[in-house]
Amino acid sequence: MAVSIFQPLKSQSLNFSRTLRADFIFSGTVEKQYISIEELSTFNGWAGRRGHLNAVPLRGNGQLCLQDARTKKVLYRHSFSTLFQEWLTTEEAKRVNKAFQNVFLMPMPTDSALLSIELYDTHSKVVSSFAMTIHPRDILIRSLDGLQVAPHKYLWKAGVPDKKIDIAIVAEGYTEAEQNNFYSDAIIAMKSLFSHEPFKSRKDCFNIVAVALPSQNSGISIPKRGLWKQTALSSHFDTFYSDRYLTTLNLRKLNDALQGIPYEHIIILANTDNYGGGGIYNSYTLTTAKHSAFRSVVVHEFGHSFGGLADEYYNDTQFSDTYNAAIEPWELNITTHPDDSKWKDVRGAKMYEGAGYQAKNVYRGFENCRMKTNEYPEFCGVCQRALNQLIDFYTK
Ligand SMILES: [Zn+2]
Repeated sequence: MAVSIFQPLKSQSLNFSRTLRADFIFSGTVEKQYISIEELSTFNGWAGRRGHLNAVPLRGNGQLCLQDARTKKVLYRHSFSTLFQEWLTTEEAKRVNKAFQNVFLMPMPTDSALLSIELYDTHSKVVSSFAMTIHPRDILIRSLDGLQVAPHKYLWKAGVPDKKIDIAIVAEGYTEAEQNNFYSDAIIAMKSLFSHEPFKSRKDCFNIVAVALPSQNSGISIPKRGLWKQTALSSHFDTFYSDRYLTTLNLRKLNDALQGIPYEHIIILANTDNYGGGGIYNSYTLTTAKHSAFRSVVVHEFGHSFGGLADEYYNDTQFSDTYNAAIEPWELNITTHPDDSKWKDVRGAKMYEGAGYQAKNVYRGFENCRMKTNEYPEFCGVCQRALNQLIDFYTK
């Protein structure tokens, strides 16, 4: 493009005309975890927030912090959850040392800065941490400018990327010949999102771009059936040997594929009618576009990846140890402390036992919600308030 769409505005110690990307490997076992930097890179523009830079909207299962190396002033904070931490709860994590990619974006510091990462366990304790000093003029920070830009189309543009929340809807398992088919599915995903409050009334806070990443094969890998497909992001069902858990482990490929397109939140549409999906807070949503429940599921998973919302159902034994009754979860839509209501200001909210995969000791605020069932048409009052807070955090 000839003219930058980003304003080269400089704060005291951040250069908002460039993004710093940090690619990490999180690895280990249930006993011991390691955080290692794989590569630093940079590219033109910063599509992320301009306000609340030194705060996080939710605690998350991990946090990144960028500080001025000299003054220790916090320049930028970011919270997230990871597939790696979910994997640590599986049986496999007791006997295998496994590695997972994680990619984080932040505005480029203008001077030497300290980049640190912390991961938390279910008791809110720091279980592993990492720190390094970054020199913005380090010659080995790879420039990603000029990488080939994937075919894409804006489905909804409310304003310039630095003022709006930029959502990229990305194709997975669609061949080049199926590009228009993908764009149709992306429009369904967007319409479904904007039919739910609070997205409906706050549509003007978002930009939605559909990225038609071509795959060699049509469809998605289903290991349980011995079915492997060559797709752009190498996603597959049966993550952690759970049938309907569909994820991609290739976060580098995913972030590379989005080069040249402003993005903050990612929704991946998988070209299959097999049921499944996943949503990881501040990482991505992945959902199946050809299943009859697509419209509900894509919004539910986005509740996880954008809103950090917990599941409000409890008829699932897979993750039954996710929440500890003694610890109040950071997710805004479930609680383990029914007497000390965290949503006493939400009209109509009560206490219903059963949420976060557990029938006992974890509570939700309403009988039903988009985070509980695919049939229910909207987010409950507690979730709507939480999502509104997130939208405010990113845009005000
Ligand atoms: Zn809810």
